[in-house]
Amino acid sequence: MVAGVVSCLTTTSTVIGQGSGSLPYRAGIDVTDYAITLDLPDRGASIAGRAVLTVRRWGPVDTLALDLVALKVDSVLVDEKPVTFTRTDSLLRIPIGRVVGDSFSVMVRYGGQPKDGLIIRTDSAGRWTAFGDNWPNRARNWIPSVDHPSDKATVTWTVNAPSERRVVANGELVEETPLAGPPGAAPRTLTRWRESRPIPAYLMVIAAAPLVYYDLGRDGCGVGEFSSCVRQSVYVFPESRDFLPGPFSHAPEMVRLFSELIAPFPYEKLAHLESSTRYGGMENAGAIFYADAPFRRRTMQPGVIAHETAHQWFGDAVTEREWSHVWLSEGFATYFQQLWVERFGGDSAFRQELRRTRDEIVKAPEVASRPVIDTTQTDLMALLNTNSYQKGGWTLHMLRALVGDSAFFRGLRSYYLANRHSTALTDDLRRAVEASSGRPLGWFFDQWLRRPGFAEVTTSWRYDAAERRVIATITQGGRFGVYRFPLTVAITDATGKERRATIDVPAAANTTFAVPLQLDGAPRGVVFDPDVRVLATFQAR
Ligand SMILES: [Zn+2]
Repeated sequence: MVAGVVSCLTTTSTVIGQGSGSLPYRAGIDVTDYAITLDLPDRGASIAGRAVLTVRRWGPVDTLALDLVALKVDSVLVDEKPVTFTRTDSLLRIPIGRVVGDSFSVMVRYGGQPKDGLIIRTDSAGRWTAFGDNWPNRARNWIPSVDHPSDKATVTWTVNAPSERRVVANGELVEETPLAGPPGAAPRTLTRWRESRPIPAYLMVIAAAPLVYYDLGRDGCGVGEFSSCVRQSVYVFPESRDFLPGPFSHAPEMVRLFSELIAPFPYEKLAHLESSTRYGGMENAGAIFYADAPFRRRTMQPGVIAHETAHQWFGDAVTEREWSHVWLSEGFATYFQQLWVERFGGDSAFRQELRRTRDEIVKAPEVASRPVIDTTQTDLMALLNTNSYQKGGWTLHMLRALVGDSAFFRGLRSYYLANRHSTALTDDLRRAVEASSGRPLGWFFDQWLRRPGFAEVTTSWRYDAAERRVIATITQGGRFGVYRFPLTVAITDATGKERRATIDVPAAANTTFAVPLQLDGAPRGVVFDPDVRVLATFQAR
């Protein structure tokens, strides 16, 4: 997601007991499908739900612990037989010791007013609205679930709501059926959506609000090997209708670009919704929710659309198995937004973006004190920081500079295809790019992701007239130690022509080298890192 436009990131912190480390969240348990039926009220915030979970089990697990906060549970059936469950304020414990076989179904009837997760409110125009807003672990406030990114499942939503509200959810629209109600009652409609690709609970959402539909058309059909035929649409409140397509006119080119760079769009459709999410944008699979203020103010920018759209591949289709690897989601979305700028805004706009994010990284206190893969952070909201976003994105940028475009994108494609609709850790990415580039990269990932900071570089140079070369000296060290990186040097020669060479700077305090360019006289100028490819501060001595 991208950060909210209001002070949303300062709300309740979501602390988990075991840190963001590497224990299995629910050992021996895998939910493979959720069938969730919800009755939404005419007014008020009380919902009635029925969730049928298909569960796989391995090993001697005799209790299924589902996350569910506060809501009242009426009954639980395992393989259609009633069982005696126990309840704490945040867990529902279900005995499964008598289940025969390794797969079974669990039905939970529940209800009440969700404290969070499904945000039900009356908006400033007096309209009843409900929007799911689950990141990171708030799905448990309205869905009995294994609420952790390591457990992905398909989901069917069946929602009974007043007909004046449009219900939108993950996946494909299966039916919209008017219901016969008692005479005089407000008409109701049953809406069903089916997401047939497994997604984590934090991406399982519905919207129910008086939204109007804007069709962006189908795009990317038959563009060759990476064709991606997907229907895109925008759902907004009626008063936002005349803002469309606005920045969403760029949505087709984004899907085309990411399909071409990586693989076809991973889901059945892509809807963009004006919503009440606390974030600027939230990448729910196939149904991106955006904050409503930029619609109302007509200030929405295409960058947030590119970021959330990129998440459909990275974060949604390939999900970080542990929260500490959330850069695999946010760093990728950050960098792919920049790749969209590179393609459609040009090289200088791309470099300007990279300079901007590099400036943010070197100023961020969390970058100086913590690594990107932060296994000790227990406050998940605190992981939404400059490390996960900007430094994660910059790590991809430097990986590309190190191995070259061809090996970089081939590696990303094979990482994506190997882990699509599943989960991954950073080592999966490392192995994929090692295979595509033929180079060991453990040092690279350790250097940029498993220790705090960035390179602090001091440069100097002189012209050696006898050798007709520039002799450059790189000094590094200081707060974060020494780094290894390729460094491009641009030399403007005596005739005004610019020439470039790239040298490998070792992880050493002092490196002196002759730039391998033969010159005809003293150069007019020397620029280090002209293409903005090293996460370093540069100071000339
Ligand atoms: Zn994001």
